[in-house]
Amino acid sequence: MHEQGEEEPLPPATTTGEHHVTLTERGPFMAPRCTCGWYGPARRSRPLARSEAAAHMADAAA
Ligand SMILES: [Zn+2]
Repeated sequence: MHEQGEEEPLPPATTTGEHHVTLTERGPFMAPRCTCGWYGPARRSRPLARSEAAAHMADAAA
């Protein structure tokens, strides 16, 4: 199965309080962006973009 990327909301487990990260596809890259205004660097690797989104959640929760 080949995943065609569009804007993909992360699972609820990664949503905390006012932080809701979505992965936005930019060409071959995935860029995580949060409702708080934060956005991560665009990555070719979706899992990496996800993990950076998770790291932002952890930072925000700390
Ligand atoms: Zn945030």
